[in-house]
Amino acid sequence: MTYDVFVVGGGPSGATAAEDLARAGKRVAMLDRAGRIKPCGGAIPPRAIADFKIPADQIVAKIETARMISPTGRSVDIHIENGYVGMVDREHFDEFLRVRAVQAGADRLTGTYLRIERDVDGTHVVWRDKVSGNEVRSRAKLVIGADGARSDVARDEVPGGDTIPYVIAYHEIIKAPAANKDYDPKRCDVIYDGRISPDFYGWVFPHGDQASVGMGTGVDGVNLKQATADLRASSGLTGCETIRKEGAPIPLRPLDRWDNGRDVVLAGDAAGVVAPSSGEGIYYAMLGGRVAATAAQACLASGKAKDLKLARKLFMKDNKTVFKVLRSMQDAYYKSDERRERFVSLCHDTDVQKLTFEAYMNKKLVAARPLAHIKIGIKNVAHLLGWVKPSWT
Ligand SMILES: Cc1cc2nc3c(=O)[nH]c(=O)nc-3n(C[C@H](O)[C@H](O)[C@H](O)COP(=O)(O)OP(=O)(O)OC[C@H]3O[C@@H](n4cnc5c(N)ncnc54)[C@H](O)[C@@H]3O)c2cc1C
Repeated sequence: MTYDVFVVGGGPSGATAAEDLARAGKRVAMLDRAGRIKPCGGAIPPRAIADFKIPADQIVAKIETARMISPTGRSVDIHIENGYVGMVDREHFDEFLRVRAVQAGADRLTGTYLRIERDVDGTHVVWRDKVSGNEVRSRAKLVIGADGARSDVARDEVPGGDTIPYVIAYHEIIKAPAANKDYDPKRCDVIYDGRISPDFYGWVFPHGDQASVGMGTGVDGVNLKQATADLRASSGLTGCETIRKEGAPIPLRPLDRWDNGRDVVLAGDAAGVVAPSSGEGIYYAMLGGRVAATAAQACLASGKAKDLKLARKLFMKDNKTVFKVLRSMQDAYYKSDERRERFVSLCHDTDVQKLTFEAYMNKKLVAARPLAHIKIGIKNVAHLLGWVKPSWT
């Protein structure tokens, strides 16, 4: 039998692609190697919950405040108006998405992608079955590579797929303490401090009974475990029981091409798609899966490989500007403690808070009062040119 689409990877991007394709009546396979919980802070915005119909029982914590902490320990609490940031546990969330794809009609396969082969009979995904250990050859008209950061499908099939830059993120899942003066189960802490991360940030994300404490960096030689131990100490979390310790790469830049011009298209981390500044990837992975499924359907209908380009085009239409703004923010403010101090100062401005949270929560760049934009622009320039003290708000 020939699959219309063979999806490699059953994370948020692959499971979403498989579900959408199955719902559209396509014969679809979803291959995942299984057996590992994806290391992830698990924060998702309301837009993800709404667009991808995430049920309430997947949300293990509702975050109402974000606390931004500067290198000198100054902090600002940003209260999330009209909503919350949802926290999912990837152990259960990914499985929920995979089961939902199967219920929609996708074939679930468990094993490891090995390579793609082409012959007179068409395109075949070769994979190793987890139970039997045998190599299996599955014929498919199209392949979606949704196998995460450092994707084998991207490396094998798409130009530049093996050269995506990464930060390495590491976190420890701990048993959450009872609420106390340092820890609030409804508050995320985001720590901008060169001692924790010289080029990204550290975090404390509550997850109900558990919490994720971690940091990311693209700088070689940083001791991620020590940085996380320091973060736990400064957050009063050293004594909490550690449940898991794990790390993984976060891609830094979307690839210029997501398809191979023939029969493969990438989605999610495999395509390098994670928001700069925040490292947010779950929503973008699910959206990536959705646009890859749309592009695959267009290609199946037309028989034209160029329709696979639709995936990147659709994604960029809505997200290019946000990614650009977030990239310039990261480039400008994540490079030294002085700049990080200035960044936290800017976050004191309620107009900055409103605009950034609207962009995060609903994925929209909203127009604020014109005077607010002018004020933010001036504050930004004043900080970047050093006209004001780093602590000036
Ligand atoms: C420490 C850390 C914290 C993070 N925190 C957040 C956060 O709070 N919020 C947020 O939005 N994002 C966060 N991210 C980013 C987010 O986790 C990713 O962007 C997201 O998981 C990407 O989804 P995906 O489906 O593209 O890839 P993945 O989730 O990586 O899924 C890929 C799937 O492919 C499978 N696979 C891989 N290789 C093969 C193979 N050869 N054969 C078969 N199957 C294979 C894997 O088993 C996996 O299930 C974080 C990342 C890290 C590392």
